Amino acid sequence: MNHFLKEDLTNLEGLLEKIKEQGISYLDNLSERATYSDHQLPEEILSVKEGKGSEETFKIFNERLEPLMVASSGPRYWGFVTGGTTPASIMGDWLTSIYDQNTQALKGVGDISGQIEIETIKMLLDFFELPQDYIGGFVSGATMSNFTCLAVARQWIGKNLGKDFAKDGITEKINVLSAMPHSSSIKSLSMLGIGSNNITKIKVAEGNRECLDTVDLEEKIKELNGEPFILISSAGTVNTVDFDDFQAISKLKNKYNFWWHIDAAFGAFAKCSDEHKHLLKDWENADSITIDNHKWMNVPYENAVFLIKEKHKLEQIETFQNSSAPYLGDPMEKFSCLNFLPENSRRLKALPVWFSMIAYGKDGFKEMIEKSISLSQYFGKLIENDNNFEILAPVRLNTVCFTLKDQTSEQVLEFLERLNQTKKVFLTPTIYKGKQAIRAALVNWRTESSDVELVFNLMQELLRK
Ligand SMILES: *Cc1c(COP(=O)(O)O)cnc(C)c1O
Repeated sequence: MNHFLKEDLTNLEGLLEKIKEQGISYLDNLSERATYSDHQLPEEILSVKEGKGSEETFKIFNERLEPLMVASSGPRYWGFVTGGTTPASIMGDWLTSIYDQNTQALKGVGDISGQIEIETIKMLLDFFELPQDYIGGFVSGATMSNFTCLAVARQWIGKNLGKDFAKDGITEKINVLSAMPHSSSIKSLSMLGIGSNNITKIKVAEGNRECLDTVDLEEKIKELNGEPFILISSAGTVNTVDFDDFQAISKLKNKYNFWWHIDAAFGAFAKCSDEHKHLLKDWENADSITIDNHKWMNVPYENAVFLIKEKHKLEQIETFQNSSAPYLGDPMEKFSCLNFLPENSRRLKALPVWFSMIAYGKDGFKEMIEKSISLSQYFGKLIENDNNFEILAPVRLNTVCFTLKDQTSEQVLEFLERLNQTKKVFLTPTIYKGKQAIRAALVNWRTESSDVELVFNLMQELLRK
C-alpha cells in the first residue's frame, strides 16, 4: 500500500474530524461570508508528480481554494434559483459519499440502493400529492430531468407514427409546442436531435403574464391536423414564476393526442403552500414532470427527479435500455435503473432527499416554503413602495423581478454590479418583456426578514452614493 494511503487509513478519524470542524465553521458563518468572488485562480498548475498526503492537500486547499468559496448556500444568495443545504440533507449527502453505493439494480444484483431510490420516489409522489402511477428516478438536475422526459416523449411520438426512433433514428419531424420553455428544455431538444428550432411558439397570455394563452394553444393544435405533438409547459417561469393553466391543458388532453411535459423545477413546491397549491391543480394528468431538489428542497447539488407515467414504461425502456443490463421478460420484474434513465453508474442521490423528507416532514417544508414566499412578498413590497424602483411583475411565488425607474440598461447593470460587489448579496440580471431587469429568487431556508431589510438598505445606500 502506498505510504500516504496507509497514513490516511491510520489517521482516518483525524482527517474526517478536520473536515467536520471546518464544515461546521463554514455553515455557522454563512451569513458573514462573501456572496461574490472576483478573484481568479492562480495560473500555475499544481504538480501531481508526487503525492503530498491528505493533511498537506487539505492545507493547500485552504490556502488556494477555500478563500474563494462564496456563500452560495447562505441566506442572501438570491441569484439564479439557488437552494441551500439543510442539516438533514447534508447528513444524507455525506452518507451517500461514505457508503458509495452504485445505484443500478432493484432486484437481484448487488446492493439495495435501487430500492432506496424507488422508496424515495414513492415518498416524493406522496409529498407532492401526486398519484403513484409515475416511474421516477434521480438525475443531476432539472436539465437532465427535462432531457430524460423529452427523450421518452420522442419515442412516444415515434410510436404514434409507427416508428422506433430509438433504434432507427429520427425520420420524421417532431412537433413541439411551448410558450416559455426554460433554456434547458431547448438544450434538451438539440441534444435529442429534435432540433431547438423546431418549437412552435404559443402566444403568451395577455397582461403581465408569462404563461401560455390557452386559446392560441388550441388554435396551434388544430393546425397540426391530428398529428401527435409534445407540449412543454411551465410550472414556474424563471423571471416571474408564472404557471400555465393546467386545468385548461387537462381538458385539451381529453380532446387531442399529445405528450404533456411540465417543467416544475422549483414551481412544484407551490404544492407545500395552502394558498398556492391551486397553481398545480390537475398537474397529475401530465405524462412527465421535472422537479429539482437542489433548489427549493435545499438539498446539496446535484439532485433532481424525473417522473414519467408508468403507462409509458415501454417507450421509456426502449429509449434507455442498456444492452448489457439484465432485461428478460417483464422489465418491471427484473427492474434495473440502467434501463430507465440515461446514466449507468450512479450515486445514491436519493439519500439526502430521503433524510430531508423524514427529518422535516410535509409540515416542516410547508413552513419553509411559505416563509420563502412571504419574504419575497415583503421584498417586493419594499421595492414597490420606493420611487427609485419599479417592480415588473407581481410577486407570484418566490421571485422578485424589478428594475430601476427611468434608467438605461447600462445603469441598471452597473447598479447590480455595485450591489453584488458589496459581497453581502448576490442577484442576477435578466431581460423581462424587453427591459433590463434584476431578479431575486428566495429559496433558502436560512433567509430571514432581517436579510431582506439588510439588502434593501444596501440598495438605498448605493442609490444615495
Ligand atoms: C433551474 C431550472 C432548470 C435547470 O435546472 P438545473 O438543475 O440547473 O439543471 C430547468 N427548468 C427550470 C424551470 C429551472 O428553474
